[in-house]
Amino acid sequence: MNSHPLNPNRLLNTSMKKPSITEIINNVHLSKETSIGSAHGQRGPSSPLAPSINLSSANEFSTLEALGSAHSNRFDSVRYARDTSELIIQTERYISAIHNNSHACLFQSGMAALDAALTTGAHDTRAIAVIGSAYRKSLNLIKLKASERSIEFIQASSIDHLRQCSRSLGQKILIFIETPSNPFLRLQDVGRIKSLFPEAFIIADITLQGLANDKINLETIADIVVSSCTKYAGGHNDLIAGYAVTRKLEQFQSLWEFRSMRGCILDNLSAYLLIRSLRTYDIRIDRQLSNASGVLKYLAESQKVSHTYYPGMHENANQHSLFKCVQHDGGSVVTFRLAQSVDATKTINSLLSTKMAPSFGSIDTLIEIPALMSHWGKSPEELEAIGLDNNIIRLSIGLEPLHFILSDLNLLLQE
Ligand SMILES: *Cc1c(COP(=O)(O)O)cnc(C)c1O
Repeated sequence: MNSHPLNPNRLLNTSMKKPSITEIINNVHLSKETSIGSAHGQRGPSSPLAPSINLSSANEFSTLEALGSAHSNRFDSVRYARDTSELIIQTERYISAIHNNSHACLFQSGMAALDAALTTGAHDTRAIAVIGSAYRKSLNLIKLKASERSIEFIQASSIDHLRQCSRSLGQKILIFIETPSNPFLRLQDVGRIKSLFPEAFIIADITLQGLANDKINLETIADIVVSSCTKYAGGHNDLIAGYAVTRKLEQFQSLWEFRSMRGCILDNLSAYLLIRSLRTYDIRIDRQLSNASGVLKYLAESQKVSHTYYPGMHENANQHSLFKCVQHDGGSVVTFRLAQSVDATKTINSLLSTKMAPSFGSIDTLIEIPALMSHWGKSPEELEAIGLDNNIIRLSIGLEPLHFILSDLNLLLQE
């Protein structure tokens, strides 16, 4: 048994090799006796290979004692489906194992997870700060939280900028970062943020990293790590989900209570799809990464591409050593600027297999012009401040044969 590659008691050595999601799921299986197919976590003499979807809104109890024990053990027992369900608990075990056995809470969407994290973190802070750029909806939600609580909102361009603006506020601030950020894929040095603001409450959105891609056990540095499973984790453009993980029991309980009160728990069908997606995660990401390296090579050789943004490389090469310390791979999203001679707003209509859609991390190659899609509604001045115009393209690379993607890029780069 000792020589077997599966070992539920082994701690993930994240700094060496990127952990495999298949390995993590199998180890959860072995250590918690949770079979993929068994709704109750016990493997019988025979059990289904796929999980069961149970749509009960409530469980019945045979005795008052059983009900009492469910009450006193409420974070782990199934009583009412707005609190939790067997399938949610099973999915959370996988997410928890992916995050070094942190407490995990699954939500209806990435935004719901962020909402819960902000509510948990902002209760006694004097300001909410965002360092670097972030998803438009996340920024809107953060501004709303700050105004509801009548606390200051700070948008800082860098860690040093935040040090200047937060001097008068002391340490009691909530810091939100997205790493890598959208759409320019810049990384945030969360370790440095923690050492400069040891008392700040830090929320890190790691959606653009995918799963198990960080080398520094981010959940031991940030107070809450959130991610949208709608992107890489789900990966098929057919579910909306998000999670929040934390090392601290008190914070987990706050996230859980928020979810129970607001009713924003993930539904069972989406949890089922998410488990199915986790089981093919490694193979999907391998293919997406190998396609991404083909695309990066193509972009680097093209005369019609003036700038390429990818974690730790090209325009982000000044973050190469940070990238090497914090992430295993750069993911399958690449942003680039087309030469002036190309009008992307015309050529983007001619693509064949690549779809124009506002998401990323999936089996389908998706393209967008951020100025016209994910940052839609911003004024020309705001767009210029972020560095966006109609020739900045964000491409999320899928599983198609590489030559499909490169042929579409040829069409896009036509003058
Ligand atoms: C998509 C996304 C979200 C929101 O996730 P949903 O699941 O769509 O609610 C939050 N942060 C980032 C970085 C995202 O890309």
